[in-house]
Order: sequence, then C-alpha cells, then structure tokens
Amino acid sequence: MDKQIEIKDAFQMLRISLTDRQAEQLLNYYDLLIKKNKVMNLTAITEFEEVLCKHFIDSLMICRLEEPKGSLIDMGTGAGFPGIPLKIVYPDLHVVLVDSLNKRISFLQDVIQKLGLEHIKAVHGRAEELAKKKEYREQFDYCVSRAVANLSSLSEYCLPFVKIGGSFISYKSAKVQDELKTGERAILLLGGSLERREDFVLPGSDISRCLLQIRKVKSTPAKYPRKAGIPTKEPL
Ligand code: SAM
Repeated sequence: MDKQIEIKDAFQMLRISLTDRQAEQLLNYYDLLIKKNKVMNLTAITEFEEVLCKHFIDSLMICRLEEPKGSLIDMGTGAGFPGIPLKIVYPDLHVVLVDSLNKRISFLQDVIQKLGLEHIKAVHGRAEELAKKKEYREQFDYCVSRAVANLSSLSEYCLPFVKIGGSFISYKSAKVQDELKTGERAILLLGGSLERREDFVLPGSDISRCLLQIRKVKSTPAKYPRKAGIPTKEPL
C-alpha cells in the first residue's frame, strides 16, 4: 500500500483526518529518521508500520485527553517524540523541543527545516538548567515527555515549565502504578495535581500504554528543579 495512505488510515483510527501535506510531512520525517539512524542512535524501531504505530500514533494519543492548543514543550524529545508528530498534526501549536544531547538537536533542526515547520525550535540543554531561565519557566500551556525518567524525577523536570492552569502530560507504559505511589508526593511539592489517568491499547497493536495529565495548580517553589543530576539520583 502507498505509505501516505497507510499513514492517513492509521490516523483515522484516532479520528484524525490528515491532509495530504501532513501525511507527506510524516513520511518525510520517517525517511529522515531512518537515514540518520544509520549513522546515529535515534531509534531502535525502524520498520515503517512499527514506527507508524509505536512512535507516530503513540505521540498523538494525547488526543484522547484533549487537543493541545497554545504552547508546548517536549522534554527529552530524543528523535522528536512526541513533539514533531504533534507539531505536524496540530500546526498552530508553538513548540519547543529540548534534549541534553546536541547531536539529536542538530538532527531535529534539520527535520524542522526540511519539513518547512514554523513556530518550532529545538533547544540543546538539560531540563534542570533551562527551567531556571525566565523565558522558559512557567511559560507553557503543556509540557509533554515520553520515556525520559520515573514520574517523580520527571515531574521535577517538567512541572517548572508549565503555566498555572496548564498541564504536564506524561506518556507512560501500563506499569505506572509503582511510580504513581512515590510520584504523587513529588507532584504536590512541585505545584501539580494528578487530574486524569487514561489507560489505552495502542490502536492496531496489543501494546498497553498510559497517559497521565497533571494540572499545574500552584507555582513551583524556586528551589526546584534541583541541580543537574539530583532529580534522578535523589527523587523527591
Ligand atoms: N522522548 C523520546 C522518545 O520517546 O522516543 C526520547 C526518549 S530517550 C529514551 C530519553 C531522552 O531524554 C534522551 O534523548 C536524553 O538525552 C534526554 N534526557 C534525559 N535526561 C534529560 C534532561 N535532564 N534534560 C533534557 N533531556 C534529557
């Protein structure tokens, strides 16, 4: 089957109707990812159908919670997940992609330019350092993150970026229960409140996944995040 049609059909399972341009952008992104993956470690998944399901569709599962509007920061974006697919599907979003590995940021800058994406930038840095900067702290409607750290450390990375009233959305596997026990305390300390948990099976697969929506209800105390490395070494 034509790959662009396959992409459109897969997104239809989420009731998302892609334009030809959006399907083409996703396919171009796939091609760039696979080409670069030969010389740099970007993804363990390379087969088209698997990337479509486990990277592209998984990135868009946020639509089960709500359609993101305004500004969004993707913490520890790696090869661009979930930030790039979200930007392609919701082109009005203002997006910042962050990663502490500069090689990945260079790849993402190339993707942004080649796909002709606007109002999106890829920034090299660590969450613990960027969160102290005025232009990033409590500036975003959404902070999203997938496969970066346990919920407690991740909350310390992500909640400082979210405006009061905005959301931190954590993409997790179904085995989130243990993390939730310790994570909830950290979430409260950082000014968040666990609002919603959405368990689902990735459409077209038997993979169980989970999304947590954490609402920012109070400002994050200035002492957080702690110095680089501490949130993972000594989770709150
Ligand atoms: N989110 C992507 C995904 O789901 O495919 C990438 C996941 S990858 C396993 C984790 C990424 O988080 C890596 O690219 C790593 O460099 C980045 N990372 C880890 N700790 C970070 C931190 N403190 N600040 C910024 N990026 C970080």
